[in-house]
Amino acid sequence: MKYVSTRGAAPELTFEEAMMTGLARDGGLYVPDEIPQLSHAQIAAMAGQSYEDVAYAVMRPFIGDTFSDDEFRKLIETAYAGFNHAARAPLKQLDNNHFLLELFHGPTLAFKDFAMQLIGQMFQASLTRSGKRITIVGATSGDTGSAAIEAFRGLNNVDVFILFPHGRVSEVQRRQMTTPVEDNVHALAVDGDFDDCQAALKDMFNDFEFRDGVNLAGVNSINWGRVLAQVVYFFSSAVALGAPHRKVSFTVPTGNFGDIFAGYIAKRMGLPIERLVIATNQNDILHRTLETGAQVKEGVVPSISPSMDIQVSSNFERALFEAYGRDGATVAEQMDDLKTKGSFTISQGAIDMLRDTFASGRASEEETYAAITSELTRSGEVLCPHSAVGVKVGDAFQSDVPMITLATAHPAKFPAAVEKATGQHPPLPPHMADLYERDERVTRVPNDLAALQTLIKERISK
Ligand SMILES: *Cc1c(COP(=O)(O)O)cnc(C)c1O
Repeated sequence: MKYVSTRGAAPELTFEEAMMTGLARDGGLYVPDEIPQLSHAQIAAMAGQSYEDVAYAVMRPFIGDTFSDDEFRKLIETAYAGFNHAARAPLKQLDNNHFLLELFHGPTLAFKDFAMQLIGQMFQASLTRSGKRITIVGATSGDTGSAAIEAFRGLNNVDVFILFPHGRVSEVQRRQMTTPVEDNVHALAVDGDFDDCQAALKDMFNDFEFRDGVNLAGVNSINWGRVLAQVVYFFSSAVALGAPHRKVSFTVPTGNFGDIFAGYIAKRMGLPIERLVIATNQNDILHRTLETGAQVKEGVVPSISPSMDIQVSSNFERALFEAYGRDGATVAEQMDDLKTKGSFTISQGAIDMLRDTFASGRASEEETYAAITSELTRSGEVLCPHSAVGVKVGDAFQSDVPMITLATAHPAKFPAAVEKATGQHPPLPPHMADLYERDERVTRVPNDLAALQTLIKERISK
């Protein structure tokens, strides 16, 4: 299996190379050159299997000969051993035909752990083999950072730098990033918003001298390995509700479009998905894009679901690539317009394809609070604000096809919003009960590429 860039002008890579490379050298994102198919019988055979067995069946066709069958099985086992739920991704019933997929039982309490724990294992295996040393730089709206730190802390051939928007993550999210004591962990609070952090990261990748000098690697969802690991729970949950013998739909609280793009890949692999619903908060650029056919960047307005406070949604590029029939040159033009003019208009054919595949909805701040409150009455489930955006939007798309909404984080990561909506303070699980007592270590940095690069070079030379 080969990987190609969405901008069509970077070398083809193996799975291992694509995973270690992150952003393609033409600025694009790597995708598999063809999407493997699972037969009806192969999907049916997943019924009753462990999460790890489903993970193996779904991901094996994508990794080529990067790992042997046995090695890959072991990496998967190790990755999910630290989760706090035997099912890894359990389903709860909210209403007659609306289900919640709880993706917050990993070590940092958000769905990011599903991919990051596995990426951590795969990176380690690959680096042990090559003897290389790498510098991971990640941009985070809150949850990717802690998940990456958890996956890479203490490894001696990796430094991990996390750029997060100063003052725009929840206190739990911040403390998860600033309290690890290992020397290879560097939390950087940037004076800017998430889009600034992500733009700085992309600029570092596009600065080849810097990139090659520090051996830069990326663990944002621009990394194909992240998206791949997230395809698994679309299969495990759909099969639990009767797929492939019946269809299911999904609603995905969306920011950078990685999670919902994983759902799209599951569909392309043969999982019978009726609808993929994009749920956004008040930063609704994706909802507006589907409605109008044009993507127009506006300012980010901070919300109670900070992990979705995004205007530049990186993985949307992967969907565009498919919508344009894999025409990399056109994708490159549109991405260039977004960067220089702040907008682009999608062709009629491409927007038709996107509208056939995805639906969308938005939830305001008031609607998000109200969804947390009413879900507690309806099912007893305490939702985090991101999951509440999903449930609110998912409810509007209920039909005779089961709807599965992804619960992307644990309510205890966002205690202020949850307490305001329910009157209850959601407690942290025992393994992080002392989070508020731990010492914090963080460096405040200006939103300035050169300053960031200098700091990173200084830190890794120590
Ligand atoms: C990252 C994140 C999202 C958005 O996921 P994308 O893959 O970026 O679309 C939603 N909710 C939570 C809690 C997150 O951490």
